[in-house]
Amino acid sequence: MMNKIGKIEYKEIKRISPSQFYSIKSCAYKSILAEAFEKKPLLPVSPNAYLGTVLHKILELISIKEIKTDFELETRFDAEINSLEKRLLQEGNGFITPLQKSVKDYGIKKIQLKKHLSNLPRKIVESKAIAEKWFESKDGLIGGKIDLILEIGQDIEIIDFKTGAITQDTLNENGEISTEIKDEYLEQLKLYAYLFYECTSRFPTRLSLVDLAKQKISIEFSLEECKAAFDDAKKVLAETNKSISTGFYNANVNEKNCIYCLYRPACSFYLKNLSLNNVYNDVSGFIKNVVQYSNGNITVLLDNGCHSVTVTGFTNTNPEYFISKRNRLINIFNLRKGILSNVYSATKTTTIYE
Ligand code: SF4
Repeated sequence: MMNKIGKIEYKEIKRISPSQFYSIKSCAYKSILAEAFEKKPLLPVSPNAYLGTVLHKILELISIKEIKTDFELETRFDAEINSLEKRLLQEGNGFITPLQKSVKDYGIKKIQLKKHLSNLPRKIVESKAIAEKWFESKDGLIGGKIDLILEIGQDIEIIDFKTGAITQDTLNENGEISTEIKDEYLEQLKLYAYLFYECTSRFPTRLSLVDLAKQKISIEFSLEECKAAFDDAKKVLAETNKSISTGFYNANVNEKNCIYCLYRPACSFYLKNLSLNNVYNDVSGFIKNVVQYSNGNITVLLDNGCHSVTVTGFTNTNPEYFISKRNRLINIFNLRKGILSNVYSATKTTTIYE
């Protein structure tokens, strides 16, 4: 599928959410592009991310006891998946449906979800539980929904559900591997804590992360730390908005930031880097030759200024399109790297931008 970016109309970011803070700190330009494109991704979203939204919703419903039995879980899960898959088909993303086929460990994730039904902790059973409640700072600059708030007497616990890994392995200065909670989650919870405090004048007594495997991790925090994260978030937002007026964007091109960025096609900083760096599954270059084989498959040869790149396996693209663009620059995203250097093949999610 062929796409064009056109002129990018940058807009001020009015508010950031705690879940967005780490991303804007890592690469402010990504948030600027997301705002400019009204948060509509320019590349296909991974099927895992879609399933994650369903798993997250079901976890919340279990936690507020709206789902109590296996039958209720099955019924609600199927209804959510059906409605999501219908939407994916309407939006032209039918190639990732049924999700059961495109998500690795789909069945395991569903079994893990069921485990949350059994033996609800006493605290959850006895407490007042509020799920998905929106909180916004007085100046409107920070806002977001808290997954779950549990209250028993003076105890207030804020819980954030994660359907992916909560921890990551890091190498310490002695070269030993240690497992730590991801920084982004620590900051996110501290922001929720201060947001809750600013809106209710009550400071939470516990902050916890709960994953699909029912692992619950509580984090350490203080009012000062949470306030510092809150102030930092507002500062980062102000600096990001300032960069829109000055035109000096804070784009942080590196593998960790860019590999899953869904705004890569619009990021000139990334695209400039692409011809020099082959760690990504994207290529950029001028079309030099187009070959159609007897089975209909098309191979395109590109020249990126440094070397030639071969992209094989286009099955749904009209060869005339490539031929008509000979000597023009195209960017191709979401390819599979071949064994040979500079040889790639098209996948179901491959997307082309002029
Ligand atoms: S591609 Fe990389 S540098 Fe560009 S906006 Fe995305 S994360 Fe930032």
